[in-house]
Amino acid sequence: MRVAFPRRSRRPEIVGLLVWLVMVLLVATGGQFARADSAAPRTTLIVYAKRKMREEQWTALFGSLQTAMRAKEAMGAGIPGDTQLLRGDAVVPGLVVENSIAVYLEGDCNLIARPKTTPRGALGWVLRVHGTIEPFIHVNCGELVEMLGPNALGMSESRRTEVMGEAMAHVVVHEWIHVASQNPGHGGEGVTKSAFDVRDLLAEDASFNGKREKHGKKRGACCMVAGDD
Ligand SMILES: [Zn+2]
Repeated sequence: MRVAFPRRSRRPEIVGLLVWLVMVLLVATGGQFARADSAAPRTTLIVYAKRKMREEQWTALFGSLQTAMRAKEAMGAGIPGDTQLLRGDAVVPGLVVENSIAVYLEGDCNLIARPKTTPRGALGWVLRVHGTIEPFIHVNCGELVEMLGPNALGMSESRRTEVMGEAMAHVVVHEWIHVASQNPGHGGEGVTKSAFDVRDLLAEDASFNGKREKHGKKRGACCMVAGDD
């Protein structure tokens, strides 16, 4: 009678070799892989609306924020693309986050059609205290509505919601770059400019890009860093 012995698999030897290789790498690098992981706490952006917003407004804002914070310019300026977005009214007591930034939406963020007015104030701001730009971002919805209002006349309600979300996200990312870089300065173009017009606010909006003349050249004071020097 022939007895067949199972063929010895080489798989355990290969697995053992791989484990050994990983251990050698970890010893050689002093555990750098593990440290690199733990040295980058995840950022959570918590958005507080001073006035109640509709579900569609939250959806539009967070969708635009996801796009804006993952843009090349934003990520190059230190904004983490894996940031978690949270609604302030969904924060429960005892919530623990590793690294948080708060956004305060000031005023009414409903975009309504309105006649042209002269810009009066900043679209957003952050504060610098004892040399540190604090992780609290303020967005001036009232000023945004004044800027975008003349363009809102022919828009449907869902389009207004979308446009307002894009504009708010643009201002948030501008201020967020001040916080992430701890730099109060401004760039000559893109989201770090010191003043925005309607085209800048809606830079990521494909259906707005080709309408430069129609939307005029009105400029709004964008943003500021207020506080000590
Ligand atoms: Zn600024």
